[in-house]
Amino acid sequence: MIREILIWPHPILKQQAQPVQAVDAGVRTLIRDMFETMYDARGVGLAAPQVGVLQRLIVLDTRARQPESKPLAMINPEIVERTGDTTYTEGCLSIPGEAEDVRRAETVVVQYLDEEGQPQRLHCEGLLAIAVQHEIDHLDGTVFVDHLSSLKRQFIRKRMLRRKEETAPTPASGVELR
Ligand SMILES: [Zn+2]
Repeated sequence: MIREILIWPHPILKQQAQPVQAVDAGVRTLIRDMFETMYDARGVGLAAPQVGVLQRLIVLDTRARQPESKPLAMINPEIVERTGDTTYTEGCLSIPGEAEDVRRAETVVVQYLDEEGQPQRLHCEGLLAIAVQHEIDHLDGTVFVDHLSSLKRQFIRKRMLRRKEETAPTPASGVELR
């Protein structure tokens, strides 16, 4: 089932997500929905808070850029090593139409539970390393524009609020909202 992606600024996107307590059928359904939602929106990563669920769970698929990689669901992911630094022009499904350079570690090692609840440890580089850092940020209530100057962030915020106004349903009764 495709879920609705929350658009920034939204209060849920600023909240800390809670660890997943048990990898059960409900979690696996959420993972399936998140993959479906991410592919529908043509993203390379999606975090549970973006679909309104404050749990520490992300999905990723960077095969378009890294054919050797595979779709990944990471439960309770944690970055345990970071090396180097790099700049990448990032976008976000919750901030459509915006893209800005963000500085991140170049490679990371991430520990997580897979869909079977088994602990995994993965060395990530290239787009996958960027995406892992971007998605884990979402679990801590951070979006990529939080890494920009406050001036840039304010510009993007205004554009997003204008966009929300434009796409808001028009009131049936003819009540003037503005
Ligand atoms: Zn994002």
